[in-house]
Order: sequence, then C-alpha cells, then structure tokens
Amino acid sequence: MNELTIKNLHVSVHDKEILTGVNLVIRSGEMHAIMGPNGTGKSTLSAAIMGDPNYQITAGKIEIDGEDVTELSVDERARSGLFQAMQYPSVVPGVTNFEFMKAAVNARRPDKPVSSLQFMKQFEEKRAFLAMKEEVGHRYLNEGFSGGEKKRNEILQMLLIQPNLAILDEIDSGLDIDALKVVAKGVNSMRSAHFSTLMITHYQRLLDYIVPDQVHVMMGGQIVKSAGPDLAKRLEKEGYAGLRDELGLDL
Ligand code: ADP
Ligand code: MG
Ligand code: MG
Repeated sequence: MNELTIKNLHVSVHDKEILTGVNLVIRSGEMHAIMGPNGTGKSTLSAAIMGDPNYQITAGKIEIDGEDVTELSVDERARSGLFQAMQYPSVVPGVTNFEFMKAAVNARRPDKPVSSLQFMKQFEEKRAFLAMKEEVGHRYLNEGFSGGEKKRNEILQMLLIQPNLAILDEIDSGLDIDALKVVAKGVNSMRSAHFSTLMITHYQRLLDYIVPDQVHVMMGGQIVKSAGPDLAKRLEKEGYAGLRDELGLDL
C-alpha cells in the first residue's frame, strides 16, 4: 500500500456521533502523530481505520491506494498491510507469546506460512533487538506482563509482521524512560519508503524520540490543526487552550 486517505469521515458508536468529518492523508514513508484532549475520538479513528464493527461509518470513506476499504473486514485490512497496537493490550489465556506471534504473521501470508525454525530465528533477532528477556516467547500472552513489557511486546509483534501502516495508540503510556527509548528504537527501525505510522499520543516526549513528519490535533471529532513537530512542543507549553483561542473553537 502507498497511501491511506480518509475523507470526511463520520463515525458513530451506539448512535452517538464521535467523528464529525475527519480528513487525513498518510503517504508511504511518512510518520504522523495525532494529539488531542481525552474523549475526542482518537481511538475511535484508529478503530474505524482497522474496521472494528462496533464503529459505524455514517458518512465519508477510508481509501487505501484509492480503493474504498470501508466494506473490508478487520482480517482483510490486516492482509492489506494495516497493523494496530492496542491501547490496552489484552490477555489471551493458554496461548504462548511465540505461538500467538507466529499465528499473527502467518495469518497475513496464508499461501506461504513461515516454518517454526525460520520464525524462531526472526523472533530471537527482534527480541534481542528490543532487549526483551529470553523467556518472553514461552510466556502466555500478556499474562503477568508489566505495562512496559506489554508495550514492547506490541512493538515486537510489529517488527515481526512488518506492516505497511501501523497505528500506535498511546504506545508511550506508562513507560519509563528506558522502555520509551526501546519502543522508539523499534518504531524508528521500521522507517522506510514502504512504511508509515499514525501515532496517537498525549505527550510531546515520545516525539523527541520518534520525530514525526506531521502533527495533527483532534478536537470534537475532527482534525482542527496540522503542522510540523513544533506544534507538539507548543501544545506541551500552552495546553489546548491556546489553540482553542487561536481557532475560535468551543470544543
Ligand atoms: P480518545 O481516544 O480521543 O480519548 P475515544 O475515541 O476513546 O477518545 O472516545 C471518544 C468518545 O467516544 C468518548 O465519549 C467515548 O466514551 C466514546 N466511545 C468510544 N468508544 C466507545 C464504545 N466502544 N462504546 C461506547 N462509547 C465509546
Ligand atoms: Mg483516551
Ligand atoms: Mg484513546
């Protein structure tokens, strides 16, 4: 995939309109960040892009390389190269992390599944790169993982899957500074002409380590401002009040 285009997207949850007309273009190779107050619809946007059926698209569309993907299932979208790291990674009992990761990788290449030996090598390489403990493959998925370990594990999954576009929702929340650096190292290692990312974050600090091409601010279910990385620095200083005043918003 080369480009994700979101046009005038309106999304409702339980008949309540959350997104009120989002426009966004992410080209291959670009890193984008979305910031914005709590409850403004950032996670809703990521759920809608991934095709979560709980989020109804009532108007507008989502296109990948000019093709409307609004009707595609979550799996179909994943096969087209989309990846989402969860804001709250869930616990999956009885499945080891290694098995889960292998299944996730193979789900995207049903014609050519990776062998266990091949996958073991890739897993070990990426695990070491992210300075994760050796035992991490044998543990049950997310059971007893600390907050930081869960986030690293999401990044490990991304490195193994090698998606074209990753949506990273609050991957920095609850991380200490060392874990934040590891997570950033993982994301930065993906940088290429064939990879783009949409990072949702509350804190400018993440963007010191993963420097975005564009920063967007979402308020009231819309993107109200887009600019370079300096926008995040300004928000860190002024909060959202300054921007509301500038734009004459009452959101
Ligand atoms: P953000 O990520 O910007 O904090 P969200 O997208 O999580 O905001 O939420 C936006 C609004 O939509 C909130 O009012 C939230 O309560 C509501 N919402 C989101 N998802 C659901 C859901 N699955 N069920 C009910 N309400 C939801
Ligand atoms: Mg939130
Ligand atoms: Mg959220």
